[in-house]
Amino acid sequence: MRRKRPTGHLAVLNYLGLMPKMRRKSDLPQKDCATCGRPFTWRKKWASVWDEVRYCSDKCRRERKSDNSVQ
Ligand SMILES: [Zn+2]
Repeated sequence: MRRKRPTGHLAVLNYLGLMPKMRRKSDLPQKDCATCGRPFTWRKKWASVWDEVRYCSDKCRRERKSDNSVQ
């Protein structure tokens, strides 16, 4: 006999006490820009590089590059 378990991503998180704070309607991931600090939302063009995306725009990325960091 099986015990009934919650199903679905959010239900499981809730069950484990890991419920994230409520997302916006879009439910897309967000990050804070490393340059300007503003939050930006996942975009389709970043689908394959989202882990590496750190800036909200090319402008911010360029500004950051003038900083000395290689990364
Ligand atoms: Zn920015």
